[in-house]
Amino acid sequence: MSNTADAIIIGGGIHGASLAFHLGQRGLKSLVLEKKTLAAGATGRSSGLVRMHYDLEPESRLAWKSFEYFRHWKDIIGGDSGFTRTGFIQLVSENYEEALRGNVAMHQRIGIPSLLIDPEDVRRLAPFFRTDDFNVAAYEPESGYADPNAVAASLMDAAKRFGARLVQDCAVTGIQLASGKVSGVSTSQGDFSAPIIVNAAGAWAQSIAAMAGVDLSVDTWRHDVAFVRQPKSIPANYPTVIDNIHSMYFRSETGGLTLIGLEDKNPIGESPDGFTDRAQPGFVERAIERICERIPSMENGDLHSDQGGYDGISPDQRAILGQIGPEGFYAQCGFSGTGFKIAPAVGLCMSELIVDGAAKTVDISPFDPHRFERGDLLKAEHAYEDIWH
Ligand SMILES: Cc1cc2nc3c(=O)[nH]c(=O)nc-3n(C[C@H](O)[C@H](O)[C@H](O)COP(=O)(O)OP(=O)(O)OC[C@H]3O[C@@H](n4cnc5c(N)ncnc54)[C@H](O)[C@@H]3O)c2cc1C
Repeated sequence: MSNTADAIIIGGGIHGASLAFHLGQRGLKSLVLEKKTLAAGATGRSSGLVRMHYDLEPESRLAWKSFEYFRHWKDIIGGDSGFTRTGFIQLVSENYEEALRGNVAMHQRIGIPSLLIDPEDVRRLAPFFRTDDFNVAAYEPESGYADPNAVAASLMDAAKRFGARLVQDCAVTGIQLASGKVSGVSTSQGDFSAPIIVNAAGAWAQSIAAMAGVDLSVDTWRHDVAFVRQPKSIPANYPTVIDNIHSMYFRSETGGLTLIGLEDKNPIGESPDGFTDRAQPGFVERAIERICERIPSMENGDLHSDQGGYDGISPDQRAILGQIGPEGFYAQCGFSGTGFKIAPAVGLCMSELIVDGAAKTVDISPFDPHRFERGDLLKAEHAYEDIWH
């Protein structure tokens, strides 16, 4: 196996795979170096929500462009993404009604199928939801969820068709520089060289950046989810929901399950190598209490399983995309718990940046890694509170 490539991508998650595919389309052969196995990090634990509802326009644009991939996965990527259309409902408390209206107007302006609905509409979509604690909601009829493992695997297969290689069980231990430019990496499987190195290491991104002498503003974020066996009265497939009133999101899962995640008490700054085969103590009780607030009949459900995962989080809870530090070194990380659904478009835009010097499909300059030094944190026009609090 040749140890030389056009680009080295550190991290075999959905972002590493997406970038390898898009660089391949543009004629660059990548080496994806993964210390464990494909999708062993956040990607393999992701809840896989696919929706366009963000309060920041560039994120909605990335999600909308990515949606084109999810909708036509077989034609664009090949294989299966497991995309399941359920429709998506965003619920907010009274305090954020105006922001919700502003955001739906922004989504409509950029072409996203999104509309305002009222509690009666929500009852029609999901008669088993409690609907007496909000006045207005956003609805995306086309949205749903996908299968993150299938998405990563099919992206990587597609990348291989363009000459990319995935090296698993290969931990990057150092980054080599020559005359201020990156030249290669040392790993548990020897040295590899390339003039371009991309940090797509998720929750491990800070330590990878440090190897290149870069102090990257990215920390670790832990997130747990629970799967509940839903009672038979609840249909197998119902709308996916972000319920800001209860700081929770949930969706149906195959096998008569409901997946629940919570927006609060997600620890920041833990080691990304912590135990994730089970959720943290107390999480399941909180998750079940909250889902029963929105779906009272869930009291007749029972716990199926629980688990956790780690992602990288930035100070403004938005992605970190672009060149930083030595020439040839790029960041594609800091996805702050929402990076799955935007990965196809992010890979495309990063490939445009790397090959052409600027992204043209979506302007990703707002996600510039240098914004933190400038104190220029991203803030939405119609902002909700931080999603993770
Ligand atoms: C529980 C959970 C639920 C989520 N739900 C959603 C959701 O519903 N929708 C959504 O959009 N987003 C969601 N996210 C966020 C989303 O999953 C992540 O933003 C996304 O998967 C990040 O992908 P990645 O490729 O950047 O990182 P990862 O998938 O973490 O990949 C990074 C890879 O780098 C490897 N690595 C680390 N160090 C090294 C090294 N030294 N050498 C080689 N390889 C290394 C790791 O092993 C890992 O496989 C969720 C995250 C979690 C944890």
